[in-house]
Amino acid sequence: MYTTFQKHLQEELQQIEAAGLYKRERVIVTPQSSGIAVATTDNPHAEVINFCANNYLGLADNQELIDAAKACMDRRGYGMASVRFICGTQDTHKQLEQAISDFFGTEDTILYASCFDANGGLFEPLLGQEDAIISDALNHASIIDGVRLCKAVRYRYANGDMADLEKQLQAAQAQRYRIIATDGVFSMDGNVCPLDKIYELAQKYDAMVMVDESHSAGVVGETGHGVTERYNLRGKIEILTGTLGKAFGGSVGGFTTGKKEIIDLLRQRSRPYLFSNSLPPMIAAAGLKTLELLTRNNELQDRLHSNTAYFVEKMKGAGFDIKPTESAICAVMLYDAKLSQDMAAALQQEGIYVTGFYYPVVPKDQARIRVQVSAAHTREQLDRGIAAFIKVGKAFGVIK
Ligand SMILES: *Cc1c(COP(=O)(O)O)cnc(C)c1O
Repeated sequence: MYTTFQKHLQEELQQIEAAGLYKRERVIVTPQSSGIAVATTDNPHAEVINFCANNYLGLADNQELIDAAKACMDRRGYGMASVRFICGTQDTHKQLEQAISDFFGTEDTILYASCFDANGGLFEPLLGQEDAIISDALNHASIIDGVRLCKAVRYRYANGDMADLEKQLQAAQAQRYRIIATDGVFSMDGNVCPLDKIYELAQKYDAMVMVDESHSAGVVGETGHGVTERYNLRGKIEILTGTLGKAFGGSVGGFTTGKKEIIDLLRQRSRPYLFSNSLPPMIAAAGLKTLELLTRNNELQDRLHSNTAYFVEKMKGAGFDIKPTESAICAVMLYDAKLSQDMAAALQQEGIYVTGFYYPVVPKDQARIRVQVSAAHTREQLDRGIAAFIKVGKAFGVIK
């Protein structure tokens, strides 16, 4: 059998390559940070400034987190060798769940191995075929997969389009329970979901709301408490999901936080929670330290906000077309697919690490370079990034 299947796979891989969509891993030979070294064909240690990590608060190599993880490993060992409900729950896991609830002002929290798992295991235990999920068209793949695993009737509204959401909510009145599902920040544009209006429509049409805070937690809101802070809706949203893999330390781990009974039922029935291993204790301990850091003072959040504002202002001033952003994601619009790839490559030659995205990752003729700003970027690193963009942008005729 494998001979024919192998041929089929080889053809498939060639098609991906021919379409220019073949993904290659870039090998980093330093800790994750705002300045890293990557191994290239002609240089095993090429230094670049990193503008494409989700390391929004610069915690991926933070010494306090490393120390907390090490100390926990000494105290509580390496792994749990169990799922949570059999014999995989330590005090550290419970403490982290409480800290996440405190951070978001929610009633209870359940940890997962990732936010992909949190979203994958969210809808199916809660809703049945009598119910409805109304989903933003640009939601993350893990929400889409989670919705697919659930028997509820699916409705979709155009990204952030409240007139369309209202139409879908009207159509969904036929169902028993309704939940609106949205990303907090959409990863390709950096826009924040209009949660105030979503919440209003949810009240009007008797629906619940689920927000994925993966790109917004630690980033959005005056003190980085996410979209519920930004819209003054702390404690009002039934379900929030999020990751420890972005602003919250950059390691792994996910969570669902919200109403007590929802979390309780997830502990009884959510399959990634019931059938997948517990987070390693050191990850839970470093997660706890992350939340302690973020509530100790507002230094990192302030620095991220001022770095992002600085970058956007200078880039706009230079003539670049940047999508309106309310996050640390800056989409530098180039529209042309090939240009986005050529310019990203030229920027890498200048020591600036960015990624160009084009169809089908973003809509046709909407190609762009996505820049992700971090609290860890120094002014000098930002300036070098901007200068490289200007040099390369002029060379490609993108700016004058
Ligand atoms: C990154 C991301 C996830 C996945 O998080 P992991 O913890 O890495 O699995 C889920 N949802 C959104 C919106 C994300 O951006």
